[in-house]
Amino acid sequence: MTGIKSAAPVLFDLFNRLPQQEWFAPPYDDMIEIDICKKSGYLATPDCEVEKQWIPAVGERYDSCPYHKVVQLDATQSYQVNADCEPVSQMVTRSYFTLPPVMAWYYRRSHPDYEPLPPYRADCETPLEKEMTFIRPNAGTTITLTKNIEGKTNETVFELAHKIPNTTVYWYLDEDYITSTKDFHEIALSAAPGKHIITAVDDNGNDVKMSLKFK
Ligand SMILES: [Zn+2]
Repeated sequence: MTGIKSAAPVLFDLFNRLPQQEWFAPPYDDMIEIDICKKSGYLATPDCEVEKQWIPAVGERYDSCPYHKVVQLDATQSYQVNADCEPVSQMVTRSYFTLPPVMAWYYRRSHPDYEPLPPYRADCETPLEKEMTFIRPNAGTTITLTKNIEGKTNETVFELAHKIPNTTVYWYLDEDYITSTKDFHEIALSAAPGKHIITAVDDNGNDVKMSLKFK
């Protein structure tokens, strides 16, 4: 935010003052034309949506796209399935652009068309995969309890990202239920000095825990 409001205007002011010139000729001898993943900008894999781009020849050393993933879906394409719960002949194979939860949470803000991976059908075993991740604070952090000018203890904001929109998340401080959140998973709380565990559980029973210390 600060960058957009302060640094960026200065940058554009400066650039606008530079003399008008012809654009330089691309040094094609040192470049290669290569398939790039349209979504991630990494080198394309066979699962990516591909775009040709000229890049510096050394760019060939870059990594290939880690975010396109091929998944098996049921015939309605609303659930993920696997060979243990669905005849292979009825499966639909599709490539998804799928980001880790925290990245997806930010990405979705500017890409409303981002399509999360469909959930696993109830009769199919879910491979261990993180549905939820804490965004802040970092696990293991020591939080210093400070007081505001009214003498009240300042609360700490906890935030997490969930892969699936519209999911309800239930928050616990140690064994005590605190509140629930939907879409925007953010709560503010404070606790007595000492070690505590914050637990978040979603509709489907997935949970994440974080231990931290208040002092
Ligand atoms: Zn890709």
